[in-house]
Amino acid sequence: MIVEVSGVTKRHSARVHALRGVDLAIETGELVSIAGPSGSGKSTLLHLIGTLDRPSSGRVRIAGHDTGGLSDRGLSALRAAHIGSVFQQFHLDPGATALDNVADGLLYTGPPPAERRDRARAALHRVGLGHRLDHRPDQLSGGERQRVAIARAVVGDPPLLLADEPTGNLDSAAGAEVLGLLRDLHTAGTTVVVVTHDAEIAGRCPRRVRIRDGAVLTDLRGDAR
Ligand code: ADP
Ligand code: MG
Repeated sequence: MIVEVSGVTKRHSARVHALRGVDLAIETGELVSIAGPSGSGKSTLLHLIGTLDRPSSGRVRIAGHDTGGLSDRGLSALRAAHIGSVFQQFHLDPGATALDNVADGLLYTGPPPAERRDRARAALHRVGLGHRLDHRPDQLSGGERQRVAIARAVVGDPPLLLADEPTGNLDSAAGAEVLGLLRDLHTAGTTVVVVTHDAEIAGRCPRRVRIRDGAVLTDLRGDAR
């Protein structure tokens, strides 16, 4: 089990209960969508799984590690070894080339610069951008930028990839390409969790979780197109 969320609540403030008791277990190798209306707690849940935030109560275990028992440094190390993240807004360095943006994904684990660049080049080839290595983000389309962001997230070969509305800023053709890429990574063995409010994209994942008002509403498997 790579993700175990048990009895998790999250209050952002006295009035905002973003999560009201979530249980969610994800096996290694799954491709899971998390869908639900805006404000239902999707990003909050993904942040907790990504160890970017801590629950108010309950437990989050990642690859067997109880995150509640880890210091912030311990969480950083856990993230570096296990988790890649992709966001709607890409979060690329606008002044850096695609190659340097992706190589930055290895800064924490720290191989030497030449190896970082070699691995970044390989990751960009893997997402179909071997011909865009020296392009800066403003020289790339939205779909290409998101593919750079995915390359950066997976350059360290994390077993778990989390994507929060990765197609939210893309047209449907570019969105379909990004989803195809996530499916390829899943086929190659990566566990992928994708948050989306796009029913089409959610419906194409083999396991589909829907949340509403900070709780799991349905959790369905099979019949993926
Ligand atoms: P979703 O991603 O499904 O749109 P979120 O997890 O972003 O939902 O938000 C769930 C609820 O928590 C919303 O009411 C939102 O306004 C609130 N919220 C999210 N992040 C914060 C924050 N950092 N501080 C205060 N409230 C927040
Ligand atoms: Mg969100």
